[in-house]
Amino acid sequence: LKAYTRVRELAERAGIGGESLDELHRISILHASAVYERWCLVKIISTLIEDFDFEPSPGWQELVFRAVTGRPDSASLLFNRKDIGISAILEIQPVLENGRRPDFRLRFSNSDSGDVGAIVMDAKFRTRWRRGELTDLLAELVDGKGYGGKRDRVFILQPQANAVSEPSSPLAWGQHCDYGQEAPTNHRTGSIQLAAGTQGGGAQQNLRRLIAIGLQAVFPQPPSPDEEYNWNSTSCCIRCATKHESVDIKRRQTRRGRDYWSQNCGNCGMETVRTHCYDCDATLFKNGTDLTYHRTLAEQITNVMCPSCGAYFDKDFLAVAASATE
Ligand SMILES: [Zn+2]
Ligand SMILES: [Zn+2]
Repeated sequence: LKAYTRVRELAERAGIGGESLDELHRISILHASAVYERWCLVKIISTLIEDFDFEPSPGWQELVFRAVTGRPDSASLLFNRKDIGISAILEIQPVLENGRRPDFRLRFSNSDSGDVGAIVMDAKFRTRWRRGELTDLLAELVDGKGYGGKRDRVFILQPQANAVSEPSSPLAWGQHCDYGQEAPTNHRTGSIQLAAGTQGGGAQQNLRRLIAIGLQAVFPQPPSPDEEYNWNSTSCCIRCATKHESVDIKRRQTRRGRDYWSQNCGNCGMETVRTHCYDCDATLFKNGTDLTYHRTLAEQITNVMCPSCGAYFDKDFLAVAASATE
């Protein structure tokens, strides 16, 4: 919680720190929901800054301090990654067109990405979930309150492990998170477990995966070799945030002559394969078993299923991919 520490330090320097923050801890038993919501905000901000290397705009500490100590009010924070040309806007209690106010909305953009949709997040504190309650609540936010509008994603942040009643992923997060990996949801709606400590295994990674869905969606298709002159990196590793350099990106072709790209991080070695569904053409990212948010096959967890149409990779592709890595 480095960002939180920084907020506390700033507040203390301004002479308003200690007491009001201690008070926040004291009231936490009485107002767990409000505190959880604020804690999630700090978590989102620290993931953007510390995990994904975004730089917040000047004055962000005061805004965050007001948001975590004062009455909830609309505010927005700007973040930038100049090296890959991507900016992020995190809105706190944004007012939607229909007048509703979800807790947070996070939107990534680069100069030529169209609107790929923001991630609307609502923090829901529960000490336990009744059977079906989480599913019903998500439906209420999506269908009842229209949080997603035309193209935004809607996700619930909640602290309990094992909240997913019918896991569709064989990976460790499957019981705790639903990234909307099941076709045809296409990562539009779901829920993640976000809690302090190690409960549920890698709860910190859960938020990183969710934010990566929004971030990778604005990475443009890498240029073809003849366009590479003057090329500026427009994507980064989602494990260590290092930008992809031209030498890190290899264009390959499936047996059917379709392009796909392997991107190897020059710093931590993580490989991301950017490809598309052979059936419906949806863009897919193979992020490895730690950071994938797509559904993977139980018997072959490196293989992803299309979140849009449910197809999984054809044998054609697999043969070529295997020979490329030999
Ligand atoms: Zn890396
Ligand atoms: Zn598909």
